[in-house]
Parts: sequence; C-alpha cells; structure tokens
Amino acid sequence: MNDAQLAAAVERPAIASSDALLPADERTRDIARDLYSEVAAAPIISPHGHVDPRLLTDDTPFRDPAELLITRDHYVTRILHSAGVELWEVGLDPSRPVDPREAWRRLAENWHRFAGTASGYWLAHELSSLFGVDDELDEASADRIYDRIAVALKEPDFRPRALFKRFGIEVLATTDDPLDDLEAHRLLGEDRSFPGRVLPTFRPDAYVDPNAAMFTENVTKLLAATGERTALAGYLAALAARRAHFIARGAVSADHGVVEPFTTDLAPSVAESLFQKALAGELDAAGARLFRGHLLFQMARMSVDDGLVMTIHPGVRRNHHTPTLERYGPDTGHDIPVQTEYTENLRPLLDAFGTAPGFHLVLFAVDETVYSREVAPLAGFYPSVYIGAPWWFLDAPDAILRWRSAVTETAGFYRSSGFIDDTRAFLSIPARHDTARRLDASFLARLVAEGRVSILTARRIARDLVDSIPREVFKL
Ligand SMILES: [Zn+2]
Repeated sequence: MNDAQLAAAVERPAIASSDALLPADERTRDIARDLYSEVAAAPIISPHGHVDPRLLTDDTPFRDPAELLITRDHYVTRILHSAGVELWEVGLDPSRPVDPREAWRRLAENWHRFAGTASGYWLAHELSSLFGVDDELDEASADRIYDRIAVALKEPDFRPRALFKRFGIEVLATTDDPLDDLEAHRLLGEDRSFPGRVLPTFRPDAYVDPNAAMFTENVTKLLAATGERTALAGYLAALAARRAHFIARGAVSADHGVVEPFTTDLAPSVAESLFQKALAGELDAAGARLFRGHLLFQMARMSVDDGLVMTIHPGVRRNHHTPTLERYGPDTGHDIPVQTEYTENLRPLLDAFGTAPGFHLVLFAVDETVYSREVAPLAGFYPSVYIGAPWWFLDAPDAILRWRSAVTETAGFYRSSGFIDDTRAFLSIPARHDTARRLDASFLARLVAEGRVSILTARRIARDLVDSIPREVFKL
C-alpha cells in the first residue's frame, strides 16, 4: 500500500455521520447504531452549565476562532500549558493582547497532543460538524483552517442565537450569583422569537463559605439587598428571598461547589456565634468547616421548602498553582480533583431530608472510586438521591463507560441524572451531548449483546436518558 492508499484507507469520515465512539466489534456496533439512531436528533436538555446568558441576549458575533475555541475553554488551555505554552500566548492576559491567529497556531502545533483526550474529540467534532473541517490540524493547515472558521463566524448562521436553534437546545441552565438581577433570563423568557428555555441556577458558594474571597462584603450586600438584619436567621431569610427571585425567573436548581460534602445541623446559638466570628474575620479552620457544613444543611432544608433541586459538585481543589491564579485569575486550568467522602459527610443531611417528598439531591463526583462504593448505593436507597453524570475530568469517553459500569448494577439507569455538559464553551454543547448519546448506546448495546437487556427495553432507556430522566430529575 502506498502512502496515498493508506491515507484513503484510514481517512476519517465526518464525525457526526460516522460510527465514532461506537463499539469496535461489529455485532455490538450494529446494536449500538440502532440505539444511537433513536436519540441522535433528540433535543438537547442541558440542566447545568456555565454559558453566559448575555451571549444570547446580545447575539454578538463570535470574535475570532481563538477566542471561540481556545481562550475561553480551560480544558484546552490547560493541555497547551502542560506542553509549555504560556497562557498569555493563547489570550488569557488582557493586558498583553495577542494576535488570535498566533494563538491558533499554538493549538495547531500542539494538536497531536490532544489525541486521545476528551477535548481533542470535542474539538474535532466541532470542526467537522460546524465548519466542515475534517483534515488534520497542523502547522501546514493552521492558517487555512483559521481562515475558514473566521469567514464562517461572519455569517448570520454562526451568531449565538442561530446556533442555539441549530443545536436543537430545548433547555439551557446557566450558573448565577445570588445577587444577579437575572435580567438576561427575563429578556429571553419574554422573547417570543427565542426558541428555548434559558434558566438561571442559584450558586451561593461565595455567600456560604467564610473562606471565600469577599465573604463579609457579600454577606453585607445580600443583607442590604433584602433588608434583613445581621443575624444568622436574617441571613438565611435573605438567601431564601434570593432563591425565590431565582424561582420567579425560572430556576429549577441550586448548585453547590464545595471541597467536601460535609453537613451538620448545629444548635442555633452555636451557628450564630460562628456566623458572627466569620463576619469579624475571626473564624479558625475548624469553625469555618462547621459553618460551611451547617449552611449546606440549611440549603437542603430550603430545597425541601422551595423545591429547587440541590446539586453538589464536590471534590476539586481550586486554583492549585498560586502564581497562575495571581497572574490570570481563577478557572484557568489548574483546579485539581481531591479524594472525596460522601457516606458519612452527607449522613446528617440525608437523615433529615433523604426521604422528604419532592426533595432531589444530585451528587456529582470527580473521584471515580466513590461511584460504586458510595454514590450508587446512596442513590440505590434514598428516593431523593440521583447519580450525577460524570463531571469534569471524568466527562470523557472511557470514563463515561467506566461510570455506567460502576453505578448501573447497583442503581440502574433511572437513578442517574441524564447527561450534564457543565460547559462554558457554547460551541461544545452538541459535541458533548452527542458523545454521551453514543456512549450510552454503546453501553446498552453490550448489555443487549450479552442477553442482559432486551433491545426494546434498551431503546426505551436510550430515549429516556435524553428526555424523561433529565426532565424528572431537574423538574423540567
Ligand atoms: Zn458547573
């Protein structure tokens, strides 16, 4: 075989229409293809993510290929950084602007390093399905591909609202500060020409963790905004009032990013004294942990009262590298997972609310050892607990299959949350949901091939995973 023949033999077909990610063996692949075809074109339900809603109210064209596919995506910038590219070279330092074409060249030179990574797959999927780019990105093709994308971005079809429609997004949740006025959500909700629902999500981390930057300022602002007094009871009432505002703007969930899912129900006088110490900046580490645990418990109580689904995203050490934090700020690719414990930490919360009618608690994890040992067994008993889709470092093809294997035998498919893209990269939403659909089809296909699930049941599960399951879990 000469080079040209070899190239033709292994040429990659356009990803979206290919058997990408389906099983390698033919019999299972045929079943997986059947199951995938049930859901390939289903609308996207995205109940948790980080897209800025103003993208959709302003509908400003994306500026350039680098801003769109590199600079805003810390999954991409971290791999480049690990290869020795400085973050300013890909546009992360506003005081040191770079030519976006140069940033794109850094990606092209390092493209081979993305092989086998989830980000590499998503980017290839986006290049193929959105821009018709199926040839390899490298130094030779970098400028040509850059120009092709840059030209496309000037077209009306590539404006954010047009893409939202093209992607078939039915529900998109954003993540918002408790004091956000949610004006963008109101505008989108009232806009009859807008095709989907964009829902805010209440994210109070910076208001419930005494170690958060600006904690005291945040508490003061929140109390001022709600007219509550400076006692813990007043503060909790202020948080409840903001949750009510979110619900009025369509919110269905409250999201909690904590290092550990520790919960405790302190006596009111003890909690009040910790709160006053926190405001005075006099709380030690043990006191801060107790206060956070008490507030997480209170957030669950509020969810029981107001119906917001509680989601917990624990287990990430934020901003691991101090010099990078100081120079470039947070969310710049050096948040690193830590070991996480759920069973004992959540026991006070689940003792109190685990069987409360209507309470939904979605547990995400980045420590995959907990899936079979803790999260699936919890979801396999408590009617309130759902297994969050694999998150962050685990939202990758092999990790998603490992997750299904780890949780399904204990809890089945119907205690899982449905796919969660959790992304700030708007263009990656269809690629990520398509990835999950292909992998669920692959996983189910194996069970069918092994005679463990009938094809009829497997088809139903495949459909439910992208439709009725996320609707039920997130009360949509
Ligand atoms: Zn998130």
